[in-house]
Amino acid sequence: MSEMPESMDECFYFTNRTLGEKGNAIAWVRKPMCPECGKAKLGKPVDPKTGKVKSRATIYVCPACNYEVNKEEFDPTLKVEIQYTCPHCGNEGEAETEYKLKTYKGAKSYLFVCSKCNEKLAITKKMKKLKE
Ligand SMILES: [Zn+2]
Ligand SMILES: [Zn+2]
Repeated sequence: MSEMPESMDECFYFTNRTLGEKGNAIAWVRKPMCPECGKAKLGKPVDPKTGKVKSRATIYVCPACNYEVNKEEFDPTLKVEIQYTCPHCGNEGEAETEYKLKTYKGAKSYLFVCSKCNEKLAITKKMKKLKE
């Protein structure tokens, strides 16, 4: 398990959530190195005119060699890294899960399992209450 990223610039995704009444989770997805040239990290494309990141882009590009990958195909190959406190048993642990949202109790979530009590835990996409 690696260290928590130092800045959000290193990540495609970063969140800090409460889980249930007394748990919490910090989760992130690191930007991977370009699989083509290995010299730079993939990122969202930048508009050459405005210099702003195109946040709705469906591709990631390598700033070094311009290699492109399809976001939808590439995301599931990435991992969400999680540091959590389990709301069921209080265990403080680390977990990894697929960078792919799954529907759980009516909300799109990243799902993982507590390594101590095996309860399923969900990091919802948005701050949304799960249906009980
Ligand atoms: Zn590259
Ligand atoms: Zn637990």
